[in-house]
Amino acid sequence: MLHSRCTLILALLAGPASSTGAQITEILSNREVAEALEAIRTSNEWTLGQQIELCRIPAPPFQEAARAAELRRRFQALGLQRVRIDEEGNVIAERPGAGTGPRVALTAHLDTVFPDTVEITITRDGTRLAGPGIGDDCRGLAVILRVARALQESRIRTAGSVLFVGTVGEEGQGNLRGVRHLFDRQSAGPIDYFISVDGAGSSATSRAVGSHRYRARYRGPGGHSYGDFGVPNPIHALGRAMAAIADFRVPVEPRTTFNVGVIAGGTSVNSIAMSAVMEVDFRSERQETLDAVDAMFRRALGDALAAEHARWPHGARLSLELEEIGRRPAADQPDTAFIVRTTVAAARAIGFTPALSASSTDANYPMSLGIPAITLDGGGRGQGAHSLLEWYDDGPDGWRGPQWALLLVLGLAGR
Ligand SMILES: [Zn+2]
Repeated sequence: MLHSRCTLILALLAGPASSTGAQITEILSNREVAEALEAIRTSNEWTLGQQIELCRIPAPPFQEAARAAELRRRFQALGLQRVRIDEEGNVIAERPGAGTGPRVALTAHLDTVFPDTVEITITRDGTRLAGPGIGDDCRGLAVILRVARALQESRIRTAGSVLFVGTVGEEGQGNLRGVRHLFDRQSAGPIDYFISVDGAGSSATSRAVGSHRYRARYRGPGGHSYGDFGVPNPIHALGRAMAAIADFRVPVEPRTTFNVGVIAGGTSVNSIAMSAVMEVDFRSERQETLDAVDAMFRRALGDALAAEHARWPHGARLSLELEEIGRRPAADQPDTAFIVRTTVAAARAIGFTPALSASSTDANYPMSLGIPAITLDGGGRGQGAHSLLEWYDDGPDGWRGPQWALLLVLGLAGR
């Protein structure tokens, strides 16, 4: 990107003077950095190769070990230090800094949503790659490898150490178990800034959508639909609860949502069911709002049980079981936060302005702990994440993804 560098520096100088923009400009004026950015562009094929090869190794939830071992091997081949796999399964590697700056973690997730019964086939047609997980998050893994290689092959010295991490358990069922372990157990040591590269595109996720997920079940003795009529019915109780949920009023801002995603129960049309179950998902950008919806949900479950009992006061009693199956904290992070400003300045320096959005990613967890965190798209574009028809198109300039990540790492780690 040498050709556009000067224009961009001018663009930065023309904008409102910000210390972040000035700092990125200063970083860009370094010859080693310019060469590293250029190397990322010219060796784009290598990056795509990493993406395809890692993606061919299946990584179902809780079965990321094979892909993790291969990522470790690649980290080692790049000459990174203290390459290891922690107790939870995260792959960790380090590039030591001068010891005078913050420790920055550049991460991507190893896991996919696909069970081990899904056959993983990755195909390529020009710049277009297709197959389950190719964007989410093999793109992220390729980007962090490319950044690691760029730093290793350059003589760039950073003030703080850079950690490269492949995390486990980012997707739904994993419930962020990898990133939780990273922070709760400090398996990579202290982390001052956390960057996740997740999927394709050119936006950043700077706010964390929180979610609460539950499995709720009503149980009863069941019976014959005719002979035992009058026994409270778990399916009817569940229906009452679902009707109440369907009428929940939630704010548009902060965006807050609810969904009954799975229901099951009963054995035959002429039986009173012994059990009825639903799985529900609540999300919000603000933790207090999420907690308020959570309270409404618990009330609705109790009210539905009471209503079913009141309807059939002489029958047997039902029980209610509530099981938490997912919890991701919400967190607000202002657009004026240093990590957000640096993210935007780094993108502008290589020629685009990223949209800032809210989503649910590995960055939720550090953000909820008050640690600056952000999730970057990995460049290119793509669609169909979490589906078998997922594709990623590197287009004419997919290399901007790793360039962006590199500049952000340098902006945060300091020089
Ligand atoms: Zn992802």
